[in-house]
Order: sequence, then C-alpha cells, then structure tokens
Amino acid sequence: TETLPVPAQRRVVAVANQKGGVGKTTSTVNIAAALALRGLKVLVIDLDPQGNASTALGVDHHSNTPSVYEVLLGEISIADAAAVSTQSDNLVCIPATIDLAGSEIELVSMAARETRLKEALSTEALDHLQADYVFIDCPPSLGLLTVNALVAAQEVLIPIQCEYYALEGLGQLLNNIELVKAHLNPSLRVSTILLTMYDGRTKLADQVTSEVRGHFGDLVLRTVIPRSVKVSEAPGYGQTVLAYDPGSRGAMSYLDAAREMAVRGANGETG
Ligand code: ADP
Ligand code: MG
Repeated sequence: TETLPVPAQRRVVAVANQKGGVGKTTSTVNIAAALALRGLKVLVIDLDPQGNASTALGVDHHSNTPSVYEVLLGEISIADAAAVSTQSDNLVCIPATIDLAGSEIELVSMAARETRLKEALSTEALDHLQADYVFIDCPPSLGLLTVNALVAAQEVLIPIQCEYYALEGLGQLLNNIELVKAHLNPSLRVSTILLTMYDGRTKLADQVTSEVRGHFGDLVLRTVIPRSVKVSEAPGYGQTVLAYDPGSRGAMSYLDAAREMAVRGANGETG
C-alpha cells in the first residue's frame, strides 16, 4: 500500500462547524481511518456527547467507560481513556459518553475552563500515544467544548455541506476562531475546507461548490465527498466506510481527501 508522509510536527486538527449534520463526524472518522490505513498513527478525540465518532470507530462508549469527560475534569489522562479502534491498530479513540452532555454547563464554573483539553493533550501525553495526527470531533455548537478544541488545536478543518445555506453561520465560526487566536491560541488557523455530501445531479451542488471555492480559495480540498448511501450506512455497523465498503466512491474520496491533507501539510500549501 501507498504510504503518506509523517508530518514534520504532529498535527492537531479540530473538525468544527456549529451546524449539525454537515459531515463533521463522518469526515473525522473516515479521514482518520484513511491516514491510519496508510501507516500513520492517529488519535481521534470524540468531543460530542452523542458519541457518534466512538460508534463509527467501534469503540465502547456506554456511561462508565473512561472517556473524554473524565479527561476534561482532570481525573484521568488521555492514555487512561484511549481505546484502540476496531478499524485499525494505528487508530486510537478517546470516546465520548453521555456524561459529556452536562459538561458545557459544568465547565462554566471551572478554573481554566477553556484550556482543559489543551492541558490533557500535553506533548508528553501525545508522545506516549505516538500520535502523528490528532483529530477532535466537535459538537454542533460554539460552546465551551468547541472552544476547548480550538484552544488545543493548531488547525481547523471545516466541513461544508453542498446544500442550501451552506455558508450561513460560517461567519460566526470564523469569528470565534479569530477570538480564540487573539486571546488563547495564536497559532490557530483554518487549514482545510472540505465539501461534503455533494450530489452531482443537482445544479445547487455546483453552485455551492463554486461559491465556497470563490470564498476560501486554496483552503478548499480539490477532493469533494459525494453523497453516498454506503457512507451513511457504515456507522450502523460500527465501521468507517473504508472498512465497510473499501471500493465505494465514498471510501475512495475519503482516501483522496486524507492524501491531499497529508501532502499539503499543515500550512495548507498546495504542492
Ligand atoms: P455532523 O457530525 O456534522 O453532525 P455527520 O457526519 O454525523 O454530521 O453527518 C450527518 C448525517 O449525514 C449522518 O447521518 C451521516 O451518516 C450522513 N452523511 C455524512 N456524510 C455523508 C455522505 N457523504 N453521504 C451520505 N450521507 C452522509
Ligand atoms: Mg457529529
């Protein structure tokens, strides 16, 4: 199999968009699985109380499972919560349980409420897990969980669904990213925009695609993820689409997207 370059520096990527259903989780788990399949060590942090990333990676996330919730509370280390995905030995997940649902409120009164994930993701802790890539799957809000992800990351990957109102609300997200950059994490930047659920039969999909490319230029991956039933079926089997149907268009497009990300590197430069 093809191998992809190990990044010169570990890449920590927050996958964010406060809209629900745009493909954050799907893109997180499938890009992570694609990189792992190509020999890279990948850590996925499930930061959504729904635990959909944990499900897709075949990782247990019933209440009582050591999870990102206890990590945020500072009770355990990421190594204590890390579970190897059924999808690849190179892929490790910090699951989210339903306990995380209360944390947006609980965090408000805690000390260092914005930097708790960053503290847990120390160089030492990530060296221990030998992670080349860390992906943080954010919940569909701009609350403290997403802020924790933006503070802990160097890069933001924004999935945009090729649908009506695709760009709506993005201003708010970009504003928040700028605020976090100005006050908490100077090295943060949007490195990657990924167009998802593209339906080639509709004119609308092409309109959205060109609008997004016009707006964000080279930040947008050339690879576009097609709308595909296989992609949506895979999590029901506790799988990524790469395992569920490796030859499908969905699987191939996520492999392409992962390759593009890896080859472009953290600065989003096109080769
Ligand atoms: P988010 O994490 O942003 O809320 P998800 O990744 O969970 O979004 O995707 C929302 C829904 O759309 C899920 O049911 C998912 O299976 C489905 N979906 C995501 N990407 C695709 C795709 N390329 N083709 C078909 N369905 C998709
Ligand atoms: Mg999600």
